[in-house]
Amino acid sequence: MPVVTVPDPALVVLVGPSGSGKSTWASARYRQSEIVSSDQLRSVVGSGESDLDASADAFALLDQIVAARLRRGLNTVVDTLGLDPERRRAHAQLARQAGMPTVAVLFGTDAAQCRRRNHDRARPVPATVLDSQLRRMPEAETQLAAEGWAVVRHADEAAVEPSHSAGARAAAASQRSQPAQLSFVLQISRFPWGDDPAGWLAAVAEAAAGVGLAGLALMDHLIQIPQVGRAWEPIPEPWVTLGMLAGLTAGLRLGTLVSPVTFRAPGILAKTVATLDVLSGGRAFCGLGAGWWEREHAAFGLPFPPAGQRLDQLETAIETMRALWRQGTRAYAGERVTLPETTFYPRPVAAIPIIVGGSGERRTLRIAARLGDGCNLPAALPVLDRKLAVLRSHCEDAGRDPGELAITVLDVPVLGTDRDQVAAQVERLRGRTSAAVFARQHHAGTAAEHIGRYRLLAQRGVSTVFISLPDLASPADVLRLAPVTAAFG
Ligand code: GDP
Ligand code: MG
Repeated sequence: MPVVTVPDPALVVLVGPSGSGKSTWASARYRQSEIVSSDQLRSVVGSGESDLDASADAFALLDQIVAARLRRGLNTVVDTLGLDPERRRAHAQLARQAGMPTVAVLFGTDAAQCRRRNHDRARPVPATVLDSQLRRMPEAETQLAAEGWAVVRHADEAAVEPSHSAGARAAAASQRSQPAQLSFVLQISRFPWGDDPAGWLAAVAEAAAGVGLAGLALMDHLIQIPQVGRAWEPIPEPWVTLGMLAGLTAGLRLGTLVSPVTFRAPGILAKTVATLDVLSGGRAFCGLGAGWWEREHAAFGLPFPPAGQRLDQLETAIETMRALWRQGTRAYAGERVTLPETTFYPRPVAAIPIIVGGSGERRTLRIAARLGDGCNLPAALPVLDRKLAVLRSHCEDAGRDPGELAITVLDVPVLGTDRDQVAAQVERLRGRTSAAVFARQHHAGTAAEHIGRYRLLAQRGVSTVFISLPDLASPADVLRLAPVTAAFG
């Protein structure tokens, strides 16, 4: 059966006679609050679903609800006969004003079937009324196309897919038949560890290893950032914390995403990361960025020079670290850095990957292209595509094979078990951001939807996804990633 995707969010209008299966179809795919049903509203303002005397009131409410939901960018499924062109046009116009797609789903259920189902109902629609509904269907189909609706001709072929992950459904199916490789690293940015910091961290690490994650990355900030939590929430020094984790876990790669170069002198960072690498048996990586948050620098007495200088520092730091990590102890004279000797013991077990974070197109991506082992980019597909194009052109300018540069992304997914749970999580986490915007920003969806999206990332050359769970509270939350890692295992 061919699959036609119905984007989410959208205005979805169901079009079909009584008994054609509209309400059943909608309930199987959407949450009750997404469905605006004239029958249900008749039972709210009248005596029951078939109280036709309440129709005018019910439809007035329906129009109001549809308008209010569309104004907020909320997915809206209109469950009526769908045969009134005036109402359809009015709703479609509201959807377009809200920048939402308009989709009409046709229920061309066989007439005899509709009559049978109607007959079985507690209060059947009169046979003549049903006949007239059936007769109007072909005309409706022609009108819908002319009105500009995306028409789904056969409801049973329709599958709902989040707009932020267009193509994910098909990609998830391909992932099952021909799995692509992708590794996942848990990025920890919040530390709700109660009164047992070490115990909490150990349990999170154990859960991460158990679920097949490739590593742990810690955020490197001096004060909890407003994007993640409150300033008084704990945010540990990451390299010390990773040192503890190195002693607890066997297989996980360990590093930061990302360390600002403004925090530590580059040579000291080189020493710190190399020590972690040695103590962990070669599992260290280092995310590195220019830093961006003025406040934490001021509070900790650190200089926070203008962006241009911080980016210079980033280049200097990478060069210094590489110079110190390389073989031998001889003097180093490079592009920005001169060192009288490079005596550095213990040496890293193997080359430690430096992943450049930040996506400033003019300089940061150029630095990543020239000097990085990896480049960490945003996970949103349209943004990623643009950044990748810029990054590749920087690689070309620098005479570097783009294939040598690992592409990683930071993803902060809302991941739920089903549609209800996904919506509940969005509502709990969104703060003052609208649900529609928050869901898009966090690619809100089920594991299956994320798997499809991750495959789309893999197809673009991404090798590692850093996953930060926006609601990470207990180690058990990490276990939600099991279906994702299994799909790419
Ligand atoms: P509506 O009037 O178009 O909203 O139709 P309903 O969704 O209320 O469906 C009418 C009746 O048909 C109900 O008793 C449903 O259980 C049944 N029905 C709807 N869709 C299907 C279907 O796909 N398969 C089967 N077997 N029954 C269905
Ligand atoms: Mg119905």
